Amino acid sequence: DALIELRGVGKTFTRGKSTVTALRDIDLDVPQGRVSAVIGYSGAGKSTLVRLINGLERPTEGSVVVDGKDLTSLSAKEIREVRSRIGMIFQQFNLFSSRTVFGNIAYPLQLAGWSKERQKARVAELLSFVGLTDKAWAYPEELSGGQKQRIGIARALATSPPILLADEATSALDPDTTQDVLRLLRRVNEELGVTIVVITHEMDVVRSLADHVAVLDGGVLVEHGPVRDVIAAPSHATTRRFLDATLRTRPGDGELEQLRSAYDAEVVTVTVDDRHTIGGRLSDLVRRHDVTFELVHGGYTAVKDDALGTFTVLLQGDPDAVRRAAADLRGTLVDGDVA
Ligand code: ADP
Repeated sequence: DALIELRGVGKTFTRGKSTVTALRDIDLDVPQGRVSAVIGYSGAGKSTLVRLINGLERPTEGSVVVDGKDLTSLSAKEIREVRSRIGMIFQQFNLFSSRTVFGNIAYPLQLAGWSKERQKARVAELLSFVGLTDKAWAYPEELSGGQKQRIGIARALATSPPILLADEATSALDPDTTQDVLRLLRRVNEELGVTIVVITHEMDVVRSLADHVAVLDGGVLVEHGPVRDVIAAPSHATTRRFLDATLRTRPGDGELEQLRSAYDAEVVTVTVDDRHTIGGRLSDLVRRHDVTFELVHGGYTAVKDDALGTFTVLLQGDPDAVRRAAADLRGTLVDGDVA
């Protein structure tokens, strides 16, 4: 079941005589209980997408359904109600600098009219969950970036919303802190069952956190699917650019052709899962077909709880043997693409 559904969503901004199309014909389902990521470069339309999902903007075309309610047909008051079902975290944390950690986390509870007693109990629970019980009376300026984002997460979850929308939530953090925050977000998903939508320009965030990914480019959703499948066999050049920049496990566009002509060899890209090692497969191949091989690119990469290997293999030898070996290797592909 989808908690958020976008159907034929378009968004155009008009300023005087000029119009900018930020999003074009977007269809997207965010399944309940999972982590979905939207990845795109700057200007791809990510912020606009966030603002449509949390009801800050209305689409020019199509519908945005959150938690069963079509935002396009709701009054401002009803939209605020739906918005209260979406926790938000931000790149710059957006904590109130004049309030303590306690005051920040209690703020949404205060707005919702909770008693002082219940606020105290809930904040204590949340501080324990994010591991910052000892910081209750600190002010944001006394906290590190990672701690600030933990508080941001605690505040976003205060009223137990079923959806957490993370807008570039780790972009201001260093790599180690990013991993800490991503681990915390995984616990939010796995232990609390919160559906998470991550908006990011970092493939590493997608890899370590998301179940599904959608790739946004120039306002168009160019590719989407399970993270494993998209990493194993990206179908769009933009996805390959993201993967090349972070994984370095696959050859870039045109590189395979170069390899083929430079080495006069058969070039094969294989994707293997964690249950089989590429080494075993290749030595098998050498035994059976009398070819030599060279691993050109490749490596294993963690994908959530799993590992995925992507390798480019150069095969050399008698042309017929090479063709047979390549066919054989292709026969053992897992979710793979063959160039
Ligand atoms: P991203 O978050 O991926 O960087 P945005 O959603 O901010 O992308 O922007 C997508 C496109 O829409 C850009 O060309 C941007 O200039 C344009 N845009 C976004 N918001 C507005 C606005 N309020 N008025 C005019 N153009 C806008």
